[in-house]
Amino acid sequence: MNDNQKRILRLKQEHALPQEEWFALFSSWTPDDREFAAVHAKEIAQKKFGNRIYVRGLIEFSNYCKNDCLYCGIRRSNANAERYRLTEDTILECCHAGYQYGFRTFVLQSGEDGAYGPEKLIPLLKKIRQTYPDCAITLSAGEYSYETYQAFFDAGATRYLLRHETADPCHYAKLHPEKMSWEKRIQCLHDLKKAGFQTGCGFMVGSPFQTVEHLVKEMLFIHDFQPEMVGIGPFIPHKDTPFRNEKSGSVELTLFLLSLLRLQQPDLLLPATTALETLEHQGREKGILAGANVIMPNISPDDVRKKYLLYDNKFNGGLKENILDSPLRKQMQKIGYEIVIDRGDHGA
Ligand code: SF4
Repeated sequence: MNDNQKRILRLKQEHALPQEEWFALFSSWTPDDREFAAVHAKEIAQKKFGNRIYVRGLIEFSNYCKNDCLYCGIRRSNANAERYRLTEDTILECCHAGYQYGFRTFVLQSGEDGAYGPEKLIPLLKKIRQTYPDCAITLSAGEYSYETYQAFFDAGATRYLLRHETADPCHYAKLHPEKMSWEKRIQCLHDLKKAGFQTGCGFMVGSPFQTVEHLVKEMLFIHDFQPEMVGIGPFIPHKDTPFRNEKSGSVELTLFLLSLLRLQQPDLLLPATTALETLEHQGREKGILAGANVIMPNISPDDVRKKYLLYDNKFNGGLKENILDSPLRKQMQKIGYEIVIDRGDHGA
């Protein structure tokens, strides 16, 4: 067993590594180490969740955004983005169909759309909560004040996803316009927890300017923050952004990080993300085999799915049948897993 594999076993036992050990691991890992980590992460995930995979029905309800993140295809200044905003009725129809398919979590995701602020979102959340009392509602709509997060929670949202994108403030400044602040983003994450949300953070793997030191910071930040969910995926450039000529992030490194996150925090809700599927055939299956336990099929209407283009060639395969009759279920069964009709709460 080499030194990196000893580090991976230490992580499995202690659920933490000191900074210098992370640095050594990220500086020298090999494909063998990645496979070693995956075997142990899979073992931990199976101990915790059996062969159960949780599914979430993703509804991308608006691709308007007031922000201008340099990596994002729906950034404000991209005049080529075809903008859309689903009506409340259409969102409720998506929930209705999703419930029939077997979803018990709806993920409502959008850019930071001023026209879909709290005054519209709160009544919508209340309606969904009333109609589907047995479902979890995840919101992913960006930065708000603590009071607004509390109002979303009180209206019935149970989980919130807000990727921090990087745990390093200087790196954050290179990925975002000047008026966006890392400190504010981190404050939002703390406010979400305080409001009672199961909170998800996350970052891009291989984003421009990312270094080994940044990866070390990611693992330490996540260890300290103890989110209920973490979303990571490889960075993929979008042709209408300043990062159009940057290289995509590595699938291998993403899979390695999924395994390390599972070993660090065994009960984490960890999706095999769309970006992984976009870059790699059977990327989602590989994510599950690396320790992920969540999949988020898109249940937005067909005509808008191709417009929520955060990056080029985004995989936009939706799901439009009962999940127990779906090709997705067969794909999971082929690798020894079963998708379940369940809210899939953290700690359940
Ligand atoms: S990453 Fe999010 S906040 Fe930034 S421009 Fe894209 S949708 Fe808006």
